[in-house]
Amino acid sequence: MSTKKVEQKIETFIEGALDNPLFKTLPIKVEDIAKSMGIKVLAYGFDDDISGVLVINNEGATIGYNQTESRVRKRFTIAHELGHYVLHREESDVFMDKQYKALFRSPGFTYTEESQKLEQEANKFAACILMPESLLNKEIEKMEFDLHSEDDIKHLAKIFDVSATSMSFRLSNLGFKFF
Ligand SMILES: [Zn+2]
Repeated sequence: MSTKKVEQKIETFIEGALDNPLFKTLPIKVEDIAKSMGIKVLAYGFDDDISGVLVINNEGATIGYNQTESRVRKRFTIAHELGHYVLHREESDVFMDKQYKALFRSPGFTYTEESQKLEQEANKFAACILMPESLLNKEIEKMEFDLHSEDDIKHLAKIFDVSATSMSFRLSNLGFKFF
């Protein structure tokens, strides 16, 4: 899929979802959104390295997340797997996501260009759904937001229940300048 097509798909999904009551209050209820689409969301005691999976079979789709991870990390994982479901379910029935750090420790690990693209797309989807641009702008308007203030970024991250790092990335991708 072209980048343009992916962006359109994400935009269409978010626009449709914004009418959903689950989008009316922050933080975005990403687990409930997945469930409202008929997807099972389950906690697993995965081995250390695995952060999440998406499995699609005759019985439907299941998102599994690692129960040992922090809440913000779990939320991001669920959003990421939902991204694979919305964007990539024609391409594969199983997506298994390893923790970022673990990826580079795996022996013989190679990241093909294609798989890297899918992961970036799922991450983009996750950022867009957890931090929708329109809701982000509304919150920023409400506070006297200072991009140079670590506390302000943390405060905003708390409202959206994401990590401060995710929030910084999102703001920067939306064109906010940090200098
Ligand atoms: Zn993934």
